[in-house]
Amino acid sequence: MSLPKIKTVRAYFAGGATADKAAAGGDYHDQGANHWIDDHVATPMSKYKQYEQSRQSFGINVLGTLIVEVEADNGQTGFAITTGGEMGCFIVEKHLNRFLEGRCVSDIKLIHDQMMNATMYYAGSGGLVMNTISCVDLALWDLFGKVTDLPVYKLLGGAVRDELQFYATGARPDLAQKMGFIGGKMAVQWGPHDGDEGIRKEVARIAHYRETCGADFWLMLDCWMSQDVNFATKLAHACAPYNVKWLEECLPPQQFEGYAQLKQQAPHGMLITSGEHHGTLQSFRTLAETGIDILQPDVGWCGGLTTLVEVAALAKSRGQLVVPHGSSVYSHHAVITFTNSPFSEFLMTSPDCSTLRPQFDPLLINEPVPVKGRIHKSVLDKPGFGVELNRDGLKRPYQH
Ligand SMILES: [Mg+2]
Repeated sequence: MSLPKIKTVRAYFAGGATADKAAAGGDYHDQGANHWIDDHVATPMSKYKQYEQSRQSFGINVLGTLIVEVEADNGQTGFAITTGGEMGCFIVEKHLNRFLEGRCVSDIKLIHDQMMNATMYYAGSGGLVMNTISCVDLALWDLFGKVTDLPVYKLLGGAVRDELQFYATGARPDLAQKMGFIGGKMAVQWGPHDGDEGIRKEVARIAHYRETCGADFWLMLDCWMSQDVNFATKLAHACAPYNVKWLEECLPPQQFEGYAQLKQQAPHGMLITSGEHHGTLQSFRTLAETGIDILQPDVGWCGGLTTLVEVAALAKSRGQLVVPHGSSVYSHHAVITFTNSPFSEFLMTSPDCSTLRPQFDPLLINEPVPVKGRIHKSVLDKPGFGVELNRDGLKRPYQH
């Protein structure tokens, strides 16, 4: 079978600091006012009072969305979106383009390896450059699926289950339960600078939702790198009577020794999870070796689908779960092929969590949302990732 070659790659951005207003999309932190995702969520910046109430106040939404579009010489296109914005556009159009153009649309692993090695001197093990590489990689998988007329999950070897089941991340586990999700994860609002009073406030919230949601509904806490080992250990033990299923990303990404220590000190049966701000397979190997229970790569940030597949195999070999951070269709097509991903995350992007808004709204057309907390594999049976690009307001700042 002869396959087309890649003719060109284009990079666009939407939203972020250089845009007029919040655009949401791939940068789901780039929301308007009065959104739960910007309402006193604990962060590494919370210790500075002026940045405690709003994550946008310290610039969490400056990047905006990066959109990468790859065109084959037969005219077909693939695309993907992530967080990266205008800075990501420069990296794609001025650096990574050389590894794509002229290659066969199936040369994804070769292109991935060249992008990773050619940026090693400035990429680090997570962050903007890794987001950008991820976006290119996802666009290549989308194009390959569209050229072969197959959904990406079939290119990966096919589904191992008939449907995906989701827990919801948001501010209202009780509403998530009514919508049919298997659990609700909330962002912690208090950190080490709040001391024992902060822990009491978190426990009161958990106790309220345990009472409201009943004994068996999963409740989890996401700590977004805001804690230290001591605070996280105290919080874990304080929450244990309320059957908190896991504590997520308590520490900054590179504090591997801290994660190992936290896992040892946490109550038995409570899971410790992390990974959404880690990138590269090597970084996930070190994270896995801390003994935490669930690796949570973001497929748009970790190095792309090519890296996510490697991370899932690594976790499988160690008996660990891999449950990707959000990312909608880009995660769905991977997760449904992984035997060690028994459930998925749905990130609530409606401001008050009362409705089901697609995570990357308004940038993806036909982006599915769970029905009664589930998505059947047949929903994914469209070429590529099964979504189209809403081009309203996209800007292309660089060309080559
Ligand atoms: Mg998280």
